[in-house]
Amino acid sequence: MTTRLPPLPHHLARPAARAAARLAALTPAPPAWAAFAPGRVNLIGEHTDYNLGLVLPFAIDLACVALAAPLPKGQGTHWALASDDLGRADLVDPTTFIEPDPASRGHWSAYVRGVLRHFQDLHAALPHGIAVAFASSVPLGAGLSSSASLEAAAATLLESIAGITLDPRAKANACRNAEHDFAGVPCGIMDQTVSVMARAGHALLIDCRDESTRHVPMPPPDLASILVINTRVKHALADGAYAERRQACRRAAQRLGLQDLRAAEAAAQNTAESGGPLAFLERRRTALDPDAYRAAHHVIAENLRVADAARALAQGDLVTLGRLMNQSHDSLRDDFRVSCTELDTAVDAARDCPGVLGARMTGGGFGGCAIALLQPHAATHAPEAIKARFLDAFGSPCETFTVHASDGARSFDPSSVPALPG
Ligand code: ADP
Ligand code: MG
Repeated sequence: MTTRLPPLPHHLARPAARAAARLAALTPAPPAWAAFAPGRVNLIGEHTDYNLGLVLPFAIDLACVALAAPLPKGQGTHWALASDDLGRADLVDPTTFIEPDPASRGHWSAYVRGVLRHFQDLHAALPHGIAVAFASSVPLGAGLSSSASLEAAAATLLESIAGITLDPRAKANACRNAEHDFAGVPCGIMDQTVSVMARAGHALLIDCRDESTRHVPMPPPDLASILVINTRVKHALADGAYAERRQACRRAAQRLGLQDLRAAEAAAQNTAESGGPLAFLERRRTALDPDAYRAAHHVIAENLRVADAARALAQGDLVTLGRLMNQSHDSLRDDFRVSCTELDTAVDAARDCPGVLGARMTGGGFGGCAIALLQPHAATHAPEAIKARFLDAFGSPCETFTVHASDGARSFDPSSVPALPG
């Protein structure tokens, strides 16, 4: 029995057309399988995921589209992979086990190979001789999680091709493992989980300790919107600093006698001391070096803010949500020290606009994007004011756009991709 697939969502017409053109360069066959997976912004909960804490992202209406079709007969068993964003990859042979290759870690197809390997491990029936083309409306490397959307689009496409359905958590984990083992990026589980499991009109509260999730309704557009400010910078120190911060978190947990920083909540409850996890940390401050203390302070306080933010969101209390977003940014700037002057300028400019309830960096930091929570009347003037201030400060423009909470990864009807002109 075949179930009817939904059509291509309207907002993905452009990346779908680009993917179709790429596919047409590989094979004369029309698309036979089609999938998309979204990027995300994180409302609040930064650098908490790898500390097994809480995060509150939502999937955005920018996504990676993946299309596939058979290669002409007689072209062997290999799969041809191409990205309209980054060009053509080598061929992959799905009849032999695909292994991580340290030499090709930086190559875009490493993410896809890692996902393909998961399907090999499942002994999924993968046909021979397939062309796969990707095109994304998520800006690459801007902190909106183009990498997870590439992985989740590949996984969703492969589910269609192999005729199997993965458990959503197992799918998110397979995507994360691809990023770890094949691309060499030690990320947490947030990006893949939200790209796979998001629901339109909702944010996704993820508890990274047990990977449980809860959909939390976002405000309707007539009450508030989220503006993304893309600084278009990425500072080179990001990777080294990321590793250092992870180490500082580990060191702090060790000195506190905890498995991980999330365990501070339970430890605080189990002692006879009064106060919550922040009081628990404060009493042990002298046992920690200053970097470890500041990292722990950010992570423990951020987890409390995420829980408060999810509650505020569910109650429609946008003033509280905005205040928590502001506190989150200040903590990332001052305690965790992963902001940069471009992100701080974008955030300050947004906060100075009437009708902006809160603003913060989103993603790992050292560049990428900030987000602002806007009341409807701010939507007309805030973007221009922020852009003017940014241009004035740096002599180069930032980019702003509004995002909407969207569905997670889906297969869609390949015949709904518009035919190519000519
Ligand atoms: P982010 O996930 O925030 O966009 P990352 O550095 O984690 O930034 O991932 C960006 C990388 O993911 C790109 O450099 C590229 O290797 C890969 N990637 C993401 N989307 C695509 C795409 N559509 N086509 C090819 N590669 C992609
Ligand atoms: Mg990424």
